[in-house]
Amino acid sequence: MRNGDTLFIDGKWCAADDGRTFRVTDPATGAVIATAADGGTAETDRAIAAAHEAFDTWSAENAYRRAEVLWRTHALMTERAEDLAALMTQEQGKPLKAALNEVRYAADFLAWFAEEAKRVYGSSIPSSRGGQRFSVLRQPVGVVAGITPWNYPVSMITRKVAPAVAAGCSIVLKPAEQTPLCAVAVFELLAEAGLPPGVANLVTTSRPAEVGARLLDSPLVRKLTFTGSTEVGKDLTARAAATMKRVSMELGGHAPMIVFDDADPVHAAKGAALVKFLNTGQACISPNRIFVQRSVLPAFTDALLDRVGKLVPGPGHRPGVTIGPLVDEAALRKVTRQVEDAVEKGARLLAGGDRLTDDGLDAGRFFAPTVLADVDESMRIYREETFGPVAAIVPFDDESEVVRRANDTEYGLASYLYTRDLGRSVRVSEALRFGIVGVNDINPTAAAAPFGGVGMSGLGREGGAHGIDEYLDVKLVGVCLP
Ligand code: NAP
Repeated sequence: MRNGDTLFIDGKWCAADDGRTFRVTDPATGAVIATAADGGTAETDRAIAAAHEAFDTWSAENAYRRAEVLWRTHALMTERAEDLAALMTQEQGKPLKAALNEVRYAADFLAWFAEEAKRVYGSSIPSSRGGQRFSVLRQPVGVVAGITPWNYPVSMITRKVAPAVAAGCSIVLKPAEQTPLCAVAVFELLAEAGLPPGVANLVTTSRPAEVGARLLDSPLVRKLTFTGSTEVGKDLTARAAATMKRVSMELGGHAPMIVFDDADPVHAAKGAALVKFLNTGQACISPNRIFVQRSVLPAFTDALLDRVGKLVPGPGHRPGVTIGPLVDEAALRKVTRQVEDAVEKGARLLAGGDRLTDDGLDAGRFFAPTVLADVDESMRIYREETFGPVAAIVPFDDESEVVRRANDTEYGLASYLYTRDLGRSVRVSEALRFGIVGVNDINPTAAAAPFGGVGMSGLGREGGAHGIDEYLDVKLVGVCLP
């Protein structure tokens, strides 16, 4: 494992100029795993310069060759999936099985965009003037800056790097401070797959604002792709305006899940438990408000409690563990505050509610899988993104009421509904103002499908046929025939 030399600039691994490093810890034990290079202004400038230098050659490279590099990276990632998953578990905390699923999802983006590279089609447009022809080209935007979070530390990187590389762009990536080692592992695969120097560069840092400012202020960087919180995303978007960069923003969410009384409440509870406690609730698509129609409330709640009671918290590498730690102390404080606030305002605590400290869990940041009933609009958890293992159940009475309440959020990423009524599934999925709707489906995501939100959940889409558009400019060529 690299120690200190985690910057990848112009095809070479290096340390920070002044040797500065920061520590990377295991959130399950607090143990230091490694140190990462703490890149700053000078290193970021060099990475931008390398990406700028590489752009002309890479953008002129044919699409089949770009696809080959991505396919080779895919093969390497698939071959080393277990090692990568073990590293992810150590650095991010999720159970091994979930880490392996993420690696497969991450590899899917490499395969998908390898093929999309070959489908960057243009078009021709008839002109009203006889001697004129119009053609429309789609060309790479130039140097891209990518900034990624810690919760999906491999797939959030391939979801950006693969379309950028496929489109013919070059990229400088700044991963989250908590998970630089996963980013290093992805870049090692890209290098081994033969990606030319400078096409993808990595700046690990504990100084996000300093590196971010450099990436944003540089006129050489033509696009910013960011996944993270709405708060940071808003600041970065405003700053990107000064150099008129393209931006795509994958931000926070506050997903509603609606369980109607015509659905099977036990099946819905299974779905709710699986998606709510996925990644310890640290997912942008995690259901934050679980609306349950009053007549199925008892059956749903009993089934959910039964499933929650069977979750096994612990370090993700331990056999049988199904739910890992939270990422840091701040995350623990936020979840604790939200639960206390809800209980003070009348919510009933049906399970969990506290930090877990028995059986050696005190060394990590574990919070008990929690279920709150009778949650309402007055509580923080009803509005703030939770990002923890807390299922908040909100009773409701009828369809129009629940649609209004589900839409009553500034966020608009994922939403879910359970119903067996075909008409209702169409009506409600059309009425929900979210970028993603799962109908009896808790996993409406795939590399082949567009992912993204509306409102304060962001701008643009990643994945699917739309994902590569974010890295392409449209050029019109008008030709007058002599
Ligand atoms: P965050 O605090 O916004 O951080 C995201 C990234 O931005 C990290 O790399 C962070 O670096 C960096 N950053 C922070 N301040 C910056 C600045 N001033 N300039 C440049 N970079 C800066 O979010 P997070 O806590 O890591 O991630 C959780 C959030 O991501 C949640 O809100 C979640 O919903 C959202 N998310 C969205 C999606 C989606 O697809 N919509 C997917 C996953 C997560 P440091 O790590 O060094 O602070």
